[in-house]
Amino acid sequence: MKLTAYHRAKSLADARRLLKELGPTAMPLAGASSHSFVKNDDEKIGVDIADIGFEGVECKNGHFVVGANTRIADLQAFHAPGWVLDRVALRFVSQPLRNMTTIGGNISRVFPWNDFPVALLALNATMTISGEAKTSHLASVFFDGQPSRLFQPGDLLTEISVPEIGEGSGFGYHKESLVNMDFSHLTIAAWIRREGRTIRDARVAVGAGVPLPCRLSALEAELVGKKMRRGGHRRRRGSASGRCFLERGSRIQQ
Ligand SMILES: Cc1cc2nc3c(=O)[nH]c(=O)nc-3n(C[C@H](O)[C@H](O)[C@H](O)COP(=O)(O)OP(=O)(O)OC[C@H]3O[C@@H](n4cnc5c(N)ncnc54)[C@H](O)[C@@H]3O)c2cc1C
Repeated sequence: MKLTAYHRAKSLADARRLLKELGPTAMPLAGASSHSFVKNDDEKIGVDIADIGFEGVECKNGHFVVGANTRIADLQAFHAPGWVLDRVALRFVSQPLRNMTTIGGNISRVFPWNDFPVALLALNATMTISGEAKTSHLASVFFDGQPSRLFQPGDLLTEISVPEIGEGSGFGYHKESLVNMDFSHLTIAAWIRREGRTIRDARVAVGAGVPLPCRLSALEAELVGKKMRRGGHRRRRGSASGRCFLERGSRIQQ
């Protein structure tokens, strides 16, 4: 992709004005790391949104509200009870890319290897787009196609609301790649709520092996009602995240 001109917006209103005035060749730039993945002959005018705010994480009524311009390194550094995106950030390529890229850029244009769309699907996050008005979309809608289909000219993703992992719930995240800094071959995220040892609710999402991340609804239905093995959340050698184990003999089909 070739950038033919560059503008640095001072505020959300300024970014929206520039994007609307410059028309369809204008595009928001967050960390600007994705340009190497876009066709060389595409000519674009960059509107840098790094100075418009929407950075950081706030806890509000059982949710974490994450600004779209928050860097992946800041998601990794943030810690609070019920917060799990630090574990996803830890698996994100490399420290230079964690310093440069934003969660908003990672989910506004989905590449198959992107980590956060998969995690946010399993966590049932809600994305807020700021346009003439604010519109919110559950992850299952937001990622049911390229999110750009939900944006009108000048619209920007501004916030991501992620439910806290509460009592009796758990989250696991796993990526298969040949070496640590490789693109993922298969990414999987799972959220489970249990009562005692019985799984009451489950969301399982996959990415990388498919063009867009998706939920595995048949697997989720199979999990509900199954008993977890005692001490069921374990760390295995070579695995970056804990895994939930089912009773021996449980059969899962997808
Ligand atoms: C070598 C390499 C390896 C990588 N490996 C991985 C990996 O394993 N896992 C992973 O998750 N990521 C990986 N990435 C990063 C990923 O593919 C994207 O490049 C990155 O997440 C984009 O984030 P950004 O902040 O740089 O956004 P940009 O590149 O600035 O923007 C990405 C897209 O989103 C749009 N956009 C950005 N912010 C907004 C907003 N607020 N509202 C509306 N639209 C917006 C832009 O216009 C653009 O279309 C890798 C990148 C590189 C270069």
